[in-house]
Amino acid sequence: MTPPQAKSAVHHHDVLIIGSGAAGLSLALHLAPHRRVAVLSKGPITEGSTFYAQGGISAVLDDKDSLEAHVRDTLTAGAGLCDERSVRYTVEHGPASIRWLQDLGVPFTEETLADGSIQLHLTREGGHSHRRVVHAADATGRAVEDTLVGQARRAPNIELFEQHIAVDLITREKLGLDGPNRCVGAYVLDRSNGVEIFQAPCVVLATGGASKVYLYSSNPDGSTGDGIAMAWRAGCRVANMEFMQFHPTCLYHPRAKSFLISEAVRGEGGRLLLPDGQPFMHRFDPRGELAPRDIVARAIDHEMKRLGADCVYLDISHKPAEFVKGHFPTIHERCLEFGFDITREPLPVVPAAHYTCGGVVTDLDARTDLEGLYAIGETAYTGLHGANRMASNSLLECLVFARAAAEHILSRDTATPPALTIPAWDESRVTDSDEEVVVSHNWDELRRFMWDYVGIVRTTKRLERAQHRVDLLMAEIDEYYSHFRVTNDLLELRNLVMVADIIIRCAMQRRESRGLHYTLDYPERDPAQDGRPTVLKPTG
Ligand SMILES: Cc1cc2nc3c(=O)[nH]c(=O)nc-3n(C[C@H](O)[C@H](O)[C@H](O)COP(=O)(O)OP(=O)(O)OC[C@H]3O[C@@H](n4cnc5c(N)ncnc54)[C@H](O)[C@@H]3O)c2cc1C
Repeated sequence: MTPPQAKSAVHHHDVLIIGSGAAGLSLALHLAPHRRVAVLSKGPITEGSTFYAQGGISAVLDDKDSLEAHVRDTLTAGAGLCDERSVRYTVEHGPASIRWLQDLGVPFTEETLADGSIQLHLTREGGHSHRRVVHAADATGRAVEDTLVGQARRAPNIELFEQHIAVDLITREKLGLDGPNRCVGAYVLDRSNGVEIFQAPCVVLATGGASKVYLYSSNPDGSTGDGIAMAWRAGCRVANMEFMQFHPTCLYHPRAKSFLISEAVRGEGGRLLLPDGQPFMHRFDPRGELAPRDIVARAIDHEMKRLGADCVYLDISHKPAEFVKGHFPTIHERCLEFGFDITREPLPVVPAAHYTCGGVVTDLDARTDLEGLYAIGETAYTGLHGANRMASNSLLECLVFARAAAEHILSRDTATPPALTIPAWDESRVTDSDEEVVVSHNWDELRRFMWDYVGIVRTTKRLERAQHRVDLLMAEIDEYYSHFRVTNDLLELRNLVMVADIIIRCAMQRRESRGLHYTLDYPERDPAQDGRPTVLKPTG
């Protein structure tokens, strides 16, 4: 038995931001002139989905485009479940968000017009009726993240804590304090120093999505739904988790763990082909390759299952090599490393879990149900995406709601509340695990049955099977958690299984097929469900 931990290190800030992607860092930069901010990241600061985004950010910047068209396209993609207020709010703040990034120095791709003037190059993606996607070649996320990190490192009021994993939120209620409940900080595992206390009157979840709950995912390893699970444990509502988006085209190669082939490849003329070279998308949707992602992913899933094929192919080799290399330099180079030259041959691709449309319920100020707790970016459910996210609306949502959260936080009382006495993390009854295999086994098991039973095509029976397994895993992991010292893998597994449970429960409640949720038992859309998100409230 280890001796009781005498004391945890305690950090005090005005705002604690958990997550250093586009959402977390944008918020930190808005706050920095006025507040002392801590930003946590699980691993290296750049490691999150933001860094890997390729396609771009949507915003109305062309004279021939309109805010109304962007709103309409988003509502159409969202299949009757978007919150129109949130859609309008996001779209209206789009152009200013792009200008803000330009002012920070993000090197977006430009083009020279016939009259010699220079403007941002706009590309087009699935679901968009106009060219409205701003990009930095095919590595937009990297350009955005590098710029934000550079600025954050220079800002005197921002302290960055890499390799710090938030374990759980601290609330007045959990501390047994009287008065209205509110969030007052978080317990955080410093990988080199054990569990510490971060105290702050405002805490922001910017922890990204939960796509790692599936066996195949385009996301980096840290997308384990930590923010969603922490908010749920703290009593917040979570919505629309049945709407997990599968990206239709990830490179199919044993060594390319999660390399995504941007939708922009289809936007610029890339064609999907069966193994015998036949195109097939026209059989599923008149928009062909430009149909929304869910339709494309389901079509590929259908054809792979019908033919027993391991993959299908994406072909852009009919375009001039210079065009392909100019538009997709990263994809071209990366594929060459795996032995494929996209200027000359079709590329093997499969669908993979890509984006979490649901999340922690927030309002237009990014506030959650718990006073003092905000959620922004992929972790949040703002109502923007409805039953299906339109491509390139997600980075926009990160930027717009980071600004909204900043405005709300800055409008609050500036007086620092008195510091609370928060008990140190109690490790008196735990030991180091001598059975790490339990964690790795349960990770694999969870992700496989989520893929098989709660994937692109669902049935009630499959969902029930998955629910049964999740119940068993939850009990086992809870027991493990109460006996052994916390590690990153254990924390992530605990969060993933909780998110899996929420996804299954949301999916069971939705007795229709709509947007990204497709079940063979209810293959039609039920008009009575229009405008009704699935909202779950924690009990107990
Ligand atoms: C391959 C790929 C391509 C994409 N392409 C596009 C695109 O072209 N356009 C678009 O709009 N969207 C795209 N997306 C989606 C978009 O990138 C994400 O939705 C967006 O970047 C999410 O940003 P975020 O700030 O919410 O989270 P992330 O960028 O995922 O950052 C999450 C942060 O939270 C931290 N974190 C998580 N848990 C904890 C914890 N417990 N403790 C401490 N820190 C924690 C992580 O370390 C990380 O810093 C793409 C996604 C992927 C994976």
